[in-house]
Amino acid sequence: MRLNLAFLALALAGASAFNVPQPIAFRARSAVYSSSPSSIDQRITETLSEVPCFPFGAGEKGRSADDKWLLGGKGANLAEMSSIGLSVPPGFTLTTECCREYCSNWNGELPPSIWSEVTAQLKVVESKMGCEFGSDTNPLLLSVRSGAAISMPGMMDTVLNLGMNDVVVEALSAKTGNARFAWDSYRRFLEMFGNVVLEIPRSEFEEELDNIKFERGYFEDNELQVDDLKTVVSAFKEVYVKNKLAFPDDVNEQLRLAIGAVFGGWNGDRAIKYREVENIRNLLGTAVNVQSMVFGNMGLTSGTGVCFTRDPNNGKNELFGEFLIDAQGEDVVAGIRTPQSISELETAMPEVYQEFKKNTEILEQHYGDMQDIEFTIQEGKLFMLQTRNGKRGGEAAVKMAVDFVEEGLIDKKEAVNKVLPEHLDQLLHPSFSDTESDTYKNAVVASGLPASPGAAVGEICFTNEDVVQKSEKGIPCVLVRDETSPDDVAGMYASEGILTARGGMTSHAAVVARGWGRPCICGCSDIKIDEAAGTLTITKEDGSTVVMKSGDFISLNGNTGEIMAEKIGVSPPAMKGDLEQFMTWVDEIKEIDVLANADTPDDAAEARKNGAVGIGLVRTEHMFFEPERIGQVRQLILSKTEAQTKEALDNLLPYQRSDFEGIFKAMDGYPVTIRLLDPPLHEFLPGVEDEEVLQKLSSQMSMTVPELVEEIKSAAEVNPMLGLRGCRLGITRPEIIEMQVRGIIEAALNAIDDGVDAIPDIMIPLVGKVQEFKDQAKLVRATADRVFEERGKTCKYRVGTMIEIPRAALTAHEIAEEADFFSFGSNDLTQMTFGYSRDDVGTFIPEYKRKGILLDDPFVTVDVEGVGQLIKSTVKNGREVKPELKIGVCGEHGGDPRSVEFFANDAGLSYVSCSPFRVPIARLAAAQSATKK
Ligand code: ADP
Ligand code: MG
Ligand code: MG
Repeated sequence: MRLNLAFLALALAGASAFNVPQPIAFRARSAVYSSSPSSIDQRITETLSEVPCFPFGAGEKGRSADDKWLLGGKGANLAEMSSIGLSVPPGFTLTTECCREYCSNWNGELPPSIWSEVTAQLKVVESKMGCEFGSDTNPLLLSVRSGAAISMPGMMDTVLNLGMNDVVVEALSAKTGNARFAWDSYRRFLEMFGNVVLEIPRSEFEEELDNIKFERGYFEDNELQVDDLKTVVSAFKEVYVKNKLAFPDDVNEQLRLAIGAVFGGWNGDRAIKYREVENIRNLLGTAVNVQSMVFGNMGLTSGTGVCFTRDPNNGKNELFGEFLIDAQGEDVVAGIRTPQSISELETAMPEVYQEFKKNTEILEQHYGDMQDIEFTIQEGKLFMLQTRNGKRGGEAAVKMAVDFVEEGLIDKKEAVNKVLPEHLDQLLHPSFSDTESDTYKNAVVASGLPASPGAAVGEICFTNEDVVQKSEKGIPCVLVRDETSPDDVAGMYASEGILTARGGMTSHAAVVARGWGRPCICGCSDIKIDEAAGTLTITKEDGSTVVMKSGDFISLNGNTGEIMAEKIGVSPPAMKGDLEQFMTWVDEIKEIDVLANADTPDDAAEARKNGAVGIGLVRTEHMFFEPERIGQVRQLILSKTEAQTKEALDNLLPYQRSDFEGIFKAMDGYPVTIRLLDPPLHEFLPGVEDEEVLQKLSSQMSMTVPELVEEIKSAAEVNPMLGLRGCRLGITRPEIIEMQVRGIIEAALNAIDDGVDAIPDIMIPLVGKVQEFKDQAKLVRATADRVFEERGKTCKYRVGTMIEIPRAALTAHEIAEEADFFSFGSNDLTQMTFGYSRDDVGTFIPEYKRKGILLDDPFVTVDVEGVGQLIKSTVKNGREVKPELKIGVCGEHGGDPRSVEFFANDAGLSYVSCSPFRVPIARLAAAQSATKK
């Protein structure tokens, strides 16, 4: 079977779009580059050494992979391979510093100081190789290769066989006695130089080549004979003429232009866009590697190939690669001929294969990681041209990390850094079995924003109720809506996945879906929903439409945003031995606890299964939304009489109590942090147009419908986010808090009776003044005492507060006197510190990011300078009063790896809390943070 490397490379490059480059502290000769303590906004603190150029190859020692910020990844690894004794064609690297100099001060011209260094280094290479650049008897050819510190696939292309002209080609031909090879190299050079340096479209060369092949009746390039190749060379020169461009015969001019083109490419549109998309910042530029050529196109004992040292899909310890005989450069990946599997090299060239195999082992040992290697064989001699840590899928990442430790290549601390959060994410969601298959590809009809990963397959439902009803019968459903609102949560929860026509990555649908691990695609403008007709009309790329009905199967790929108009096969998450082993190391290494945000016993059980050691946030209002409870909640809010209030509270109490009991049981032995009612009450009220509900409520409460409508209208607030919510609600409606606290304490006592170690932490939301906290804490304690007295026994509990209003952060020392613990509500804290409405940021954050006003969405990654400052000072002031104060965070940031690093390493929190599905990722992030301390 042919290994499809091109596909694989694409798939992996795609996966890397989600990678956040991890800043690394590194040392260059006279300067230290370091990431800021949080590593979130990495800054360059000093400038680099003035040395523009470093040699490698022919046993050259000195530079190493640690210098990649200076030498680029390719250059540093070439230097490193050469210093550990592998055969690397000699050359030198112009530093990223030169690129910065070129781009900022020289406007397209190579500074003379750099050029004189180039000529000096060239002399060294010439003497190592025993030949001379541009010589008419014994010529040296060069490759000019770009390479930044972070790999940027396809950004700038390599020029091979540089140093060619009409004289050199004859000299090379005479010297090697291989005219075919010499002319083949010449035509390759003309094409690459024309394309990469002079930006002539590649197709213009390819067309000429195809014509000549067609005329001669050839299929493959290597059928071309010397005379044919000479014809190709003339035709290619004509292409230059047609484009009114001169081909420089002067080899030094060729080199100067090629180096300039690589440097200039750094600020090309393609490169800038790539860095923007991949979130790559603060690099100086690209390095340029000038290297003597070795030739894979010298006949049947030569060739070129690419190889991963292990299988990047499943992690198996076997070579995974391809090679081509009598070929050069990127022929393998370009698909010019069908390559052979690397295992066939063993029979084709046994000695080369043995040496190559040995090299792969040396490299893995040396780097402690799977390598992605490029090599060339010239007349039976092996040369190593590139190595780097190979990209891999989630399953492979975990297997390799475990295998490397077992093979003694790395220790556990290094192992936890071999798996990216994205890798775990891939493993923890079911996924489509074969996204490369034609069945899958042909089924794709549209795409939207990949808002929450995973695969969802189910019947189309346009309403919340439809999902709830169907899912109760065990029918998998996908909720399809223009956008979602808090009214839809029951349906969202019961669905396999969510598709919306509107909304961005932080829309209600996206945030809720991520929290629950539901795959979600948002903002798909190609879909049109007609709820009344029960149809979904999808406009495909070619303008044709597909009409689907309610109940038809649809599939969503939350990793890519692809939508399929049929049922596609999925595989369950691979929770296997290696992953389990890996996660035990993660837990050994991490230094802070990971808790979960969970509102139901089921969620709590899920969280525990995922390794949560407690609940950091129970949102009690989520218990109010269930259909049989909401009526009571509405009565509670709208009641005019004490009797009606009491009736509603009495009816709600058993629900709350049994939910809490279930959560305590699921979390036996671990703390359960329960937030008292937070949202504004009118969120629970029906719409004034919702006649069915109004009718029911009016008979339940013996009020007329118009009376109800009046009440509902009067409960509305202009700005509910800043209105009657959180402790303000508790202070004005203490009876609700009493009911909730009674529910919590009774549940704890019941659970304890059943032999469960229940640990309730009661948390007061939205405190801004210590007096607010005191009021509510007093109420909580009095209520608990009453229950203790009634039951004749007590239990331990704590009363703490959310820190989510800047005023609370600023007065943390006062609040710490009163509170048993703090938990940062980082969503609200961000909202109120910035003054950005969390629900409306979609209108400007994309533009802010494009303009560099914001580097990250502060609702995704904590804003270290502002919000982070408040967090740090709160921790400091709080712990000055109470050194042992337990402090955690329960906002969405608790599951964001870069934020976790800040919370753990800089803020000194005791725990982070995130949604149950993110718990393994937060554990990994916590472990990785601990290794960076
Ligand atoms: P990329 O960054 O796109 O991988 P490279 O600089 O690695 O570009 O060059 C692409 C290919 O060109 C290499 O895989 C190799 O086959 C060929 N190549 C680069 N340098 C040399 C060289 N000195 N001798 C022979 N082939 C080379
Ligand atoms: Mg390339
Ligand atoms: Mg390469």
